[in-house]
Amino acid sequence: MSFVLSIPDEIYLVMNSQGGWIDLETLFHEMGHVLSHAFTAPDLPSVEKDFFTSNTLSETYAFLLQNMCFSPLFLERHLGLSSDAIEEISFYKALKDLSVFRRYVGKFISEYEMFKENDVGNGEIYSAIMEKYTGFAYLSETHLFDLVPEFYSLDYVISWMAEATMEKMLVKTLGSDWMFQPEAGSILKDWWLCGNRYEIDEFFSAKGIGTIDHGDIIERWRNKILGEKGNANRSSTDDSLVVPTGV
Ligand SMILES: [Zn+2]
Repeated sequence: MSFVLSIPDEIYLVMNSQGGWIDLETLFHEMGHVLSHAFTAPDLPSVEKDFFTSNTLSETYAFLLQNMCFSPLFLERHLGLSSDAIEEISFYKALKDLSVFRRYVGKFISEYEMFKENDVGNGEIYSAIMEKYTGFAYLSETHLFDLVPEFYSLDYVISWMAEATMEKMLVKTLGSDWMFQPEAGSILKDWWLCGNRYEIDEFFSAKGIGTIDHGDIIERWRNKILGEKGNANRSSTDDSLVVPTGV
């Protein structure tokens, strides 16, 4: 995890490595947070630098770098993986992201319903909604252990969608090997300079990144899970796989 004591001067990233892919993913995710803080303009007023009314933009940077280290070109050029290994990793990474995304959607809807009903102590709402959106059974007694304050689940859901739009813009501007282009560093540093000045929608509009909606991330998952252009051209065991479009 990262600890931000003073932006941009005093920031720590602490890593307890577990071994395996999760370390790479975690390190790059936290690097997204840390680099965006380290390159924030030091002369911004505190309210635009140190106070976070929403974490969506910071989480979007974190997802951008996290997903970059699993992009096919990065796996091929930087880690020297075979095309078969890259295809397999991309497939399971997309499947995992889709399932975790649906879990966070379920968590946010549960929180929203519990507050709307003014019944935060009632775990039945949580267990019913979580089962509906994830397909797994959740114990109603555990609902308060799973909920995160301040609708952070919604920050993640928005950031997942925003990252797909941000990455699409980088691919369009610099090509699919954007992470190897020096211009990518210039673009990211320009974005990071803004710190926390804008809400995420304002920021995307000010920087010409695009409009955040669920279409970009659904397209990514459709391509990676069902094959390019959504053709179910994988083995017969994958035929029953359906990508939900209503999330
Ligand atoms: Zn994060």
